[in-house]
Amino acid sequence: MLTADHGVIRAFVKKARRLKGTSAAATQLLGYSQLSLFRNRDTYTVDEAEAVDIFFELRNDIERLSLAQYFCEICSVLGTEGSSAADELRLILNCLHMLARNHNLPPVMIKAIFEMRMAAISGFMPELHGCLRCEDTEGEMFFNLNEGVIFCGKCAKNGCKPLPKGVLAALRHICSCPLERVFSFTLPDEGLRILSEITEQYLMAQVDHDFTALAFYKSLFEF
Ligand SMILES: [Zn+2]
Repeated sequence: MLTADHGVIRAFVKKARRLKGTSAAATQLLGYSQLSLFRNRDTYTVDEAEAVDIFFELRNDIERLSLAQYFCEICSVLGTEGSSAADELRLILNCLHMLARNHNLPPVMIKAIFEMRMAAISGFMPELHGCLRCEDTEGEMFFNLNEGVIFCGKCAKNGCKPLPKGVLAALRHICSCPLERVFSFTLPDEGLRILSEITEQYLMAQVDHDFTALAFYKSLFEF
C-alpha cells in the first residue's frame, strides 16, 4: 500500500476472508482507505479498514482498469518505505478519479500525466527550460531521454527524440504546474499519442523495470 506518512509499506490482512462489506473492499487493489495498522518489528498487520473510495467504476472498463493497475505498479517500484509520499498519493488519487469518472479525458492523456508527474516528484525531474548547450528556448527541441535534458536542432545528437512544440509545452506543464491544474491542457490526438510515447520512454529510461501491467495494457491494442 501507498501511504501518505510512511511511503510504500507491505502489510498482512490476517482476517481478509472474514472481512465483509466496506472492510473487505478497503483492503483490495485500488481501494483508498483509512487503515489502522499494527506494527511488530518490520511486519505490519491491518487491524481495521474503512473504505473511503474504491473507484468501483474502473471495473467496467478494461483499458482504464489496466492503466490503474499500471499506476499502482509504478508506485510500488518508485516508492520507498519510511518517507512521506503525500504528493504521490494525491497524484494517484487524482489520476484514478479522472480515469474512473471523467470520460472526456482520453486514458492515454491520464497515462502520460501520471508517468511524467510521478517521475518528476520521485527525483527524475527533467530540465526542459531550453537547450542544454546554447540555451535556445524557441526553436524545435529534441529530448535526451537518458539524461533528462533537451537540445535545439543545432546541438542535438543522434538518439534524441524530436519534441513537437505542443508536446514540449505539455511536458513543461505536467512537470511544474500546481497539481490541481495538471489536467488542464489540450493536445490533438496525434500530440497525445506522441506525448504518451515520450513520457513512457522517459520513465523506462529512468527506471530500469519491466512493468507487467503496462505490457498488458499495450497488449489490448495489438491486434
Ligand atoms: Zn542548442
